[in-house]
Amino acid sequence: MSRLIAVSNRVAAPSGGKSAGGLAVGILAALKQSGGIWFGWGGKTCHGEPTEPKLDRHGEITFATIDINETEFDGYYNGYCNSTLWPLCHYMLGIFGYEREQHEAYRRVNETFARKLRPLLQEDDRIWVHDYHLIPLAEELRSAGVRQPIGFFLHVPFPAFDILRTLPGYHRLLRSLAQYDVIGFQTEQDCENFLAGLRAAGLGGERGPDGRVSALQRRIRVDAYPISIDVEEAMTQAAASMKTSAVQRLAKDIDERELVIGVDRLDYSKGLPERFQAFQALLERHPASHRHLVFLQIASPTRSGVRAYEEIRHVLEQSAGHINGRFSQPDWTPIRYINRGISRKMLMGYFRLAKIGLVTPLRDGMNLVAKEYVAAQDPADPGVLVLSRLAGAAAEFGESALLVNPYDAIGVADAILTASEMSLEERQDRYRAMMDVLQGNDIHAWRQRFLDALGV
Ligand code: ADP
Repeated sequence: MSRLIAVSNRVAAPSGGKSAGGLAVGILAALKQSGGIWFGWGGKTCHGEPTEPKLDRHGEITFATIDINETEFDGYYNGYCNSTLWPLCHYMLGIFGYEREQHEAYRRVNETFARKLRPLLQEDDRIWVHDYHLIPLAEELRSAGVRQPIGFFLHVPFPAFDILRTLPGYHRLLRSLAQYDVIGFQTEQDCENFLAGLRAAGLGGERGPDGRVSALQRRIRVDAYPISIDVEEAMTQAAASMKTSAVQRLAKDIDERELVIGVDRLDYSKGLPERFQAFQALLERHPASHRHLVFLQIASPTRSGVRAYEEIRHVLEQSAGHINGRFSQPDWTPIRYINRGISRKMLMGYFRLAKIGLVTPLRDGMNLVAKEYVAAQDPADPGVLVLSRLAGAAAEFGESALLVNPYDAIGVADAILTASEMSLEERQDRYRAMMDVLQGNDIHAWRQRFLDALGV
C-alpha cells in the first residue's frame, strides 16, 4: 500500500485534545491505515520567510507543519480564501470581494506549500489535497516536477457557472483544478457545476466512455463523495452523555417543554439571522407555542479577522435580545443564545435532548451538524430534522428530513410546528430512513471510496 500524503490549510494537533472535526477524523483514520504525512499550516505566523516543516512523528503518522509570513497569510486566508472564494462558493455575492494582491498572496502561499512539501515526498506516494484554500497546489507541485497521483476534495459547494464567472481569473482556477487526477465534490450538483464551468470556459468537461472527464489534454476522475461523520461514535457519545450533569441540568430545566437546537460556526452562510426571524414568525403566528418551545442556538465565533464575521455577530446579538425582550415571560425565555463552542460530548447530549434540530444554512457544502443531530437521536423517541434544501445533506436525506427554504421565515416556522406535532411513528420512520443513509456512508466509507479512486 502506498503512503498517503494529506494536505490541508490547517493541520489538527496530533494530541487531539479539543474536538476533532469531520475532516480531521477522516484524514487521521486514512493516515493510520496507510501511514504517511499530514502537511499544512501549523497555526502560527512569522515575520520573515516561511519556516521549514516542523516534523512531529506519532507512530505511522508524521505531522509536518510550517509557519507562514503574517502579511502573506492575511492576504491568503482572510483575503482571497475567506473574503473571495468562501462567499463565491456559497453564492453570497453581496459579501464577495476581490483584490488582486490577495489573489497573488493566495498563489504564493500555494507555491510555498508545494516547495516545502516537495522534499518530503517519495516516489510511490499518493497525495490528497483538501479544500478551497489549496486549489492551485497540484499545479504548483506539477511544475516542481511531482508526478505522483494527486487528488482533491472540495468541502464547500462548487458554484454554478453564472456565479463562478463573477470571479476575476476564474479560468485560472478551472485550469488549476484540471491538474488533479481525482476531484471529489460533495454532491452530484457540484460535479455538474464544475463540468459546466469547464465547458463554458472551453477547457473540456466531456465525460468519456470510461467515466473520466477530459480537460486540458488530461483525463480526470470527477465524482461526488458526500462527506460524513463517525456514526457509531456519535451514537455512543450521545447515549453516554445523557448521564452527564450538564445534560441532566438542561433536561431538568427544559422540563416538559420541547428543546429546539441549532449549532453552527458563526458564519453568514449558516442563515442564523434568518433562523431567528423564523423563530420569531413562529411565536407571532402561534401563541400556543409560547412556553412550550425553547430554542437553544450555540454559535462559535470564527474568522474574526474578516469584517463580515464581526457584523453577523452584532446582528445576532441584537436579534436575540429583541425577540427575547418582546416574548419572554418571567419564567420562560424563548431563545437561549450561546456565543462559544462547546465540547463535542456535551453537544451530542444536547442533540439527543432536542426534539427538533434546526439546520438552515443559506448554502452549505454538506453540513455535518445535520448528520450529527440524526445520529445522536434516541431510536425509541427520535427528534425531527428541519433541513435547508440548500445544504448538501439535503441531497442525501431528501424528504426524510423536513426540507425548508431558509429564506422563507413562515415556511421554516411551519416546519418547526409540524415537527413539534409529529407522531412517534412518523418520527421513527424518518429517523430510520436517515440512519440508513448515514450507515451506508459514514466517514470511513467516505475516505475509503476516495482513496480507492486515488489508488492508495
Ligand atoms: P462547517 O464545516 O461549515 O463549520 P459543518 O456543519 O459541516 O460546518 O461542520 C461543523 C462541525 O463543527 C461539526 O462537527 C459541529 O459539531 C462542530 N461545531 C459547530 N459549531 C460548534 C459549536 N458551537 N460548538 C462545538 N462544535 C461545533
